[in-house]
Amino acid sequence: MLIITAIPALQDNYIWAIHNTTHTAVVDPGEAAPVMDFLQKNRLQLDAILCTHRHHDHVDGIAELRGVYNVPVHGRSHPRNPHITDDLREGDQLRLDALGIVFDIIETPGHLDDHIAFIAPQILFCGDVMFGAGCGRNFEGTLAQLQHSLQRLAALPDDTLVYCAHEYTSYNLPFALACEPENPDIRQRIAETRQLRAANRPTVPFTIALEKATNPYLRCANTELIQTLQTRGLVDTSELAVFTALRDWRDHF
Ligand SMILES: [Zn+2]
Repeated sequence: MLIITAIPALQDNYIWAIHNTTHTAVVDPGEAAPVMDFLQKNRLQLDAILCTHRHHDHVDGIAELRGVYNVPVHGRSHPRNPHITDDLREGDQLRLDALGIVFDIIETPGHLDDHIAFIAPQILFCGDVMFGAGCGRNFEGTLAQLQHSLQRLAALPDDTLVYCAHEYTSYNLPFALACEPENPDIRQRIAETRQLRAANRPTVPFTIALEKATNPYLRCANTELIQTLQTRGLVDTSELAVFTALRDWRDHF
């Protein structure tokens, strides 16, 4: 039986622990201490580290963890990421025998060039590409790449649970509502998110279905959203132009 547990870290990161009663893999350990606490408290051993991309808040705990548990680090190699021991590329599979899980790897550029996503049935680890009602910033590559990466994630089955790396949902929903003031799913998600956060519970994971209903970056063909952007000067209504206008507005929202 596989369990996925959120280990809160830094200001608003989640390090995801994939574990059974003995073995563990962690995703994007930006800090070592909370991971070691979790492992000790639950008497688990660390078997593997998964890395979605090289940003500091995703890799800074790796060296210390490897000093204690000499485990492989699975991710995409990059000259500025010294931690990866197993280079993963588009179409590769990552098999974690101790946990009985196999991930399909897709490359998801547009936030950073080396960003990859780990996909198993009903499970997606997507780092900083998709967030609750939002998406990552475009630090490298093009907005077209970021949009394409998001579209590939959105094409996963509706019941896929999305394990992203930050608790950003409550920050993103006011913008989603500004884009589509009449969208009842966004209003409902705002109420549900408020309840979860008031109880100090994560809003992550969420489903692909919920993202498709409420995430503006996945709704670039939506009539109300386009009309909102048109009142702000949008002329070209191609999906990339709509996506670009959204990303630009969000940065000044
Ligand atoms: Zn990042």
